[in-house]
Amino acid sequence: MTGIACGVGAQAISSVKTAPNNSVHSAKGEEAIMSEVRKVEFGKNTAEFSEERADMACAFRWTARLNLHEGVANHFSLAVNDEGTKFLMNRNQQHFSRVKASDLLLLDANDATTMDHPDAPDPTAWGLHGSVHRHCRHARCVIHVHSVHATVLASLADSNLPPIDQNTAIFFNRYVIDEGYNGLAFEEEGERCAEMLSDPSKKVMIMGNHGVLVIGDTVADAFNRMYYFERAAETYIKALWTQQPLRVLSDEIAEKTSREIEQYPDQGQRHFVELRAILDAEEPAYRE
Ligand SMILES: [Zn+2]
Repeated sequence: MTGIACGVGAQAISSVKTAPNNSVHSAKGEEAIMSEVRKVEFGKNTAEFSEERADMACAFRWTARLNLHEGVANHFSLAVNDEGTKFLMNRNQQHFSRVKASDLLLLDANDATTMDHPDAPDPTAWGLHGSVHRHCRHARCVIHVHSVHATVLASLADSNLPPIDQNTAIFFNRYVIDEGYNGLAFEEEGERCAEMLSDPSKKVMIMGNHGVLVIGDTVADAFNRMYYFERAAETYIKALWTQQPLRVLSDEIAEKTSREIEQYPDQGQRHFVELRAILDAEEPAYRE
């Protein structure tokens, strides 16, 4: 799988080195200029989308505070154009607790040269998030974590989440389970995962043998969904530990509960406003 991710860049470089004619040299000059432009676009032009960037930084820092992160892995992304193909994403290997608004990369899912750039994102993040933003216009914000309880659920032979309380009922009939894990999420695996999100009503992908991917209309919406999914998975896993029979809700009540919570006014937004207010007071550097 590594060869697929790196092969594109290696091929492009070797064709420039061996081509003899001037048009290629001029193209190389253009490439250098474009690389400079991309450098500005990837890292430096942070005045644009400043609120979106601050929301993302808040989501990263709270994910770390809640111990839902894992080392310096995992990525969140947010589409910023109508087509959903341009998106903000965290840099390669930066700890979530240190992410600032200005650190986020601004990427184009259709730019095949992205991984040639010196400031290129993590190749698996490019594979997964690039594919989702290329194919799923409805997936505005994409959050992927290996949080413990969601990952335990994803490790069970049956990764379904039965509705046994309000939080588990939120997700009734609203997730997909990927049972085809095929290694790290380089481009081919990313494309395969993106295909599983084609139904906009399924906003959670339980990634078998891997973790969870959550989508939402905004950072607040996706973060809130990820938070509640982890809580729901924790409740279910701990209920299994008791080895007692589970009190599973009927499909009718589970569906009713899920709809009531979906229609509850601005729940995700209000949750997130509070999270930002706490950071504003305790670590305002996240907005920089
Ligand atoms: Zn992952």
